Amino acid sequence: MSVRLRAAMAGLPAYVAGRKSPDAIVLASNESPFGLLPAVAAVINDLTASVSRYPDMTSTRLIEAIAEHHGVNANQVAVGAGSVEVVAQIAAAVVDAGDEVVYGWRAFEAYPIITTVVGGTSVAVPLRDHVHDLDAMADAITDRTRLVLVCNPNNPTSTAVGYDALSRFIARVPSDVLVVIDEAYHHYTDPAAVPNALRDFADVDNVVVTRTFSKAFALAGLRVGYCIGASEIITAARKTQVPFSVSGLGQACAIAALGEEKEVRRRATLTVAERDRVSRELTGLGYDVPPSQANFVWLPIGDGAAGFGEHCAAGGVLVRPFAGEGVRVTIGLPEENNRFLELAAVAASNRG
Ligand code: PMP
Repeated sequence: MSVRLRAAMAGLPAYVAGRKSPDAIVLASNESPFGLLPAVAAVINDLTASVSRYPDMTSTRLIEAIAEHHGVNANQVAVGAGSVEVVAQIAAAVVDAGDEVVYGWRAFEAYPIITTVVGGTSVAVPLRDHVHDLDAMADAITDRTRLVLVCNPNNPTSTAVGYDALSRFIARVPSDVLVVIDEAYHHYTDPAAVPNALRDFADVDNVVVTRTFSKAFALAGLRVGYCIGASEIITAARKTQVPFSVSGLGQACAIAALGEEKEVRRRATLTVAERDRVSRELTGLGYDVPPSQANFVWLPIGDGAAGFGEHCAAGGVLVRPFAGEGVRVTIGLPEENNRFLELAAVAASNRG
């Protein structure tokens, strides 16, 4: 007799990670192309001895540093092994078997996985013109809804919703339903067009904002993310964290990275300028490119997506195709982006 798995396992989608290769330009996982921040590299050199010991389970210094960075109390901050674990911690805290989780689709591919793993039911609300349809999402909330996930800017479509729309939406969500605003790509947004939910909404009792060290802070490999919200929810999200999931190295490097705000902003500005250049050039080549507020662009080329991905890989550039939907391309260094643009030009001329 074989071990009985939960029925939901049969339908659980597998997370598809961007491809890696030492021989290719990797524009497939929305990472920073700039390498470690200088202060982080220094911390790693000093920390090799501590790796044989368990880390501080409560991440106290890191939580204090994040709280100070954002001007909130430490009891409003919880951490996890990347913001993907933080979203899972929050889901584990509020979603019971059969409860509904509402999110736009397509959005971050971990959302359906997290929902199914905690025993919830996904309510995936189609995007409209590659943007979250917040009215339809509010309409989709029922008595069974416990959690709403708003990815802003959205991965993989790169678009963002504005302050007015988000604020109207939050006002429509019942106060006993939690709204998570996933701001993994916040550093790449235009402050005139995209809200800073940490500043604008984190004091709303049923809103929690997630952020990560994986993107602008260039620490994707060390797995550190966090959320900020009301202390009752934060206490719950701390309880559902896998013990010791944030390593000591991760905690120390994240603290060092927070101290490099100026360099982080400088790099984000470079990425935004490159993103806008790549978007313009792709538009000039005839591609439909939704306006990006992130460190990647989205090419909604439908059935052409898989072939486009293979074409780029053959040319030494790894991008992230979503078969039948589109291709997400991370913004790399200028020469990496140029190589991608050459390949995109060839693909455009092949399409005629
Ligand atoms: N949220 C969004 C929208 C993302 O795109 C990602 C990473 N792809 C994450 C969260 C998770 O990032 P991490 O777990 O590395 O913090």
